[in-house]
Amino acid sequence: MSQSVEQGTLYVISAPSGAGKTSLVAGMLRDDHKLGVSVSHTTRSMREGEQNGVNYHFVGREEFEAMIAKGDFLEHADVFGNYYGTSQAWVRETLARGQDVILEIDWQGASQVRRLIPECVGIFIVPPSPAVLRERLVGRGTDTPEVVERRLAEAKEECRHAVEFDFLVVNDDFDIALADLLAIVRAQRLRMEVQQPRHQKLLAGLSGLA
Ligand code: 5GP
Repeated sequence: MSQSVEQGTLYVISAPSGAGKTSLVAGMLRDDHKLGVSVSHTTRSMREGEQNGVNYHFVGREEFEAMIAKGDFLEHADVFGNYYGTSQAWVRETLARGQDVILEIDWQGASQVRRLIPECVGIFIVPPSPAVLRERLVGRGTDTPEVVERRLAEAKEECRHAVEFDFLVVNDDFDIALADLLAIVRAQRLRMEVQQPRHQKLLAGLSGLA
């Protein structure tokens, strides 16, 4: 006997680096246990404090290219000279189980996902001003001016695509930005197409009232 399970919702979250996306997504996962996040594959090297299989699946270029050839990725992109990609099987299977999924990916990946899964919900996160972005990207001043300039140029390019998303969240105050993100998820779960099949009996009962 097969029981139909409602598909989970796919959230695609993009931001320029320095917008606080990773910490905000961590907050969403902490506060909403119905959300899961996809762990991407990447060819970039592991940073201090990162763990293979937790932050990313770290793979070599050859392995990544073999995975592209096999169609293993829902989307993939070259971001700042490294490959990044989202596992097709994990996302499709997790959504089919009814679980909501977050993808933390760049604008190129987001536009590929939008074409494949048009019902996905796109959220773009920005810092409150160009000055704050610059401040966050310059950071502790340990990077060369060339590296900082390159990061700023990349952030600008990412921000040019903000209007392609369904929602815009400004991360000025972290807690407010997190509440905004959780409100989007909550509102999405209250949409009629989601609620109606869930509350069919209730609606039928109420409609039958004289
Ligand atoms: P980082 O190397 O700093 O973790 O990430 C660099 C950029 O790659 C970020 O904009 C991040 O959102 C993006 N990214 C991470 N995973 C994926 C992915 O699977 N696909 C795509 N298209 N972008 C990704």
